[in-house]
Amino acid sequence: MLSENIARREDGTLTFAGQSVAELAARYGTPLYLMDADRIRHNCRVYTETLRRHLGGNALTVYASKAADFTELCRLTHSEGLGVDVVSCGELATAVAAGVDREKIFFHGNCKLDGDIAYALDQAIGYFVVDNTEELEALERLCAQRKRVQKIFLRITPGIDPHTYEAVNTGRVDSKFGVALATGQGLDFILSALRCPHLSLEGLHCHVGSQVFDEDVYERALDIMLPLLRDIRDRTGVMLPALNLGGGYGVRYRESDREVDIAARLDGLCRHLKERCAQLGIPVPFFLLEPGRSIVADAGMTVYTVGSVKRIPGYKQYVAVQGGMADNPRYALYKARYTVLHGSKVGNEEVFSLVGSCCESDDVIEPEALLPAGTCRGDLVAVCTTGAYNYSMSSHYNRLPRPCVVMLHGGESYVAVERETLEDLLRYDR
Ligand SMILES: *Cc1c(COP(=O)(O)O)cnc(C)c1O
Repeated sequence: MLSENIARREDGTLTFAGQSVAELAARYGTPLYLMDADRIRHNCRVYTETLRRHLGGNALTVYASKAADFTELCRLTHSEGLGVDVVSCGELATAVAAGVDREKIFFHGNCKLDGDIAYALDQAIGYFVVDNTEELEALERLCAQRKRVQKIFLRITPGIDPHTYEAVNTGRVDSKFGVALATGQGLDFILSALRCPHLSLEGLHCHVGSQVFDEDVYERALDIMLPLLRDIRDRTGVMLPALNLGGGYGVRYRESDREVDIAARLDGLCRHLKERCAQLGIPVPFFLLEPGRSIVADAGMTVYTVGSVKRIPGYKQYVAVQGGMADNPRYALYKARYTVLHGSKVGNEEVFSLVGSCCESDDVIEPEALLPAGTCRGDLVAVCTTGAYNYSMSSHYNRLPRPCVVMLHGGESYVAVERETLEDLLRYDR
């Protein structure tokens, strides 16, 4: 199976985290988001334990909550020692509701208005990751009014394209996030921050991309960011204490996708970090990583009920389920692909386009799902690896209430996010 937490019993019953998908669907209804809490803990530990082995206490893993965000999930990752990366007041409020240690909250985002900054200051979060000059000025002004000093990181665009083998690519320089180094603006940004009396510049941040498979992307990011830390020291006398390399390790959605051995990658990365620092004559910075997808993706599964099977002889065949792009817009957004499994039947598989119930032709979940020929109305199908960027990207399109999120742990299950009702949908209408 695609991932260790997916299995099939002898009678054909599909299981996730050891539990019958059909029983969970009967108990909680469909569409249904399942999250394997034990898998999330395991994924957190790959990061925390590998970093601890190489860097001791001089590192922190920060969960990028945009991948999937609800209070229980923040509690869970926090209980594994992770910080939380938030990009909006909503994500920030979720981290606060989860009781996340404020020191471990990092406020990202490329468009924080004064109201957002004020809210985060009120919440006394640990760090702002300042994206641009206007934000820097607004934050300095608001901190001066409050007569306090706020710790910050600066988001730098290192000019790396994670999807090609070219060392530096202008494609990244033109990102909407962060301030580019290649244009000289990055250095000015850093020098400006150092001049702000109410801001304490703790370090630099960069994020090269998402679903990264290339072997040496993070090493190349280090090769840009570490010399930059040395240059800043040589120029200003200030050795910035921390470096955050962002998130982005790829995960497997289909058998044909490459497998990224994150522990092995981190081993290499930590070694590179220490070697480069020694070569450059700088201390090893406090090292942060911000995984999102690789913490939650393979901990998720979505279960749907089939409503119709449509065969157009000589053309195509569809399996339609209730749900679709409202709970998983990734095909519509990125042509993302998935592995689809039948809830109870195996064998005699045919190719179907698995589509949702929304009024869009692009409401596709997986264009080439392999499902048994006998798949029919009332059957269950499961879409694997939906833990990241599904619930967090869900919408009310076609006024579909959001599914519930059920956590699975040690053979038990519990609701982490309630299923929305029709009343919930109508609540704000006047
Ligand atoms: C999206 C994002 C992440 C997480 O990326 P994943 O691919 O989900 O690991 C981390 N940091 C920043 C700044 C991001 O924008």
